[in-house]
Amino acid sequence: MEDCLFCKIIAGEIPSKKLYEDEQCYAFYDINPQSDTHFLVVPKTHICCAKKITAKNSAVVAHIFEVIAKLTEELGLDSYRIINNCGEGAGQTVMHLHFHVLSGKNLGERLV
Ligand code: AMP
Repeated sequence: MEDCLFCKIIAGEIPSKKLYEDEQCYAFYDINPQSDTHFLVVPKTHICCAKKITAKNSAVVAHIFEVIAKLTEELGLDSYRIINNCGEGAGQTVMHLHFHVLSGKNLGERLV
């Protein structure tokens, strides 16, 4: 999609620190990490946010969670937090569905 930052990252038009890629999703390190390890996993298809997940496109979400399980195991991360912000009021700043994966000693028990 035009003017979508993450679509441009997936297309290689904007550089990123890539962690993983397959036909369905792309994983890369967050430019402004909020914990020792902080990466994002995004569908290659443009879906603006969690409210636009439907029966037609939800398979990629299951796939992303499988990829997260694989990547965290490879990275040796035993405990981690997966976050999705949906909508500006919840802190979503990039309108392309993405899952934050955070791990590290500064990860507290609180959700907010
Ligand atoms: P959210 O606030 O949930 O929409 O998350 C967007 C995330 O994208 C933030 O954690 C940003 O630090 C991250 N981000 C923004 N631009 C880039 C970029 N060029 N490369 C990697 N991460 C980015």
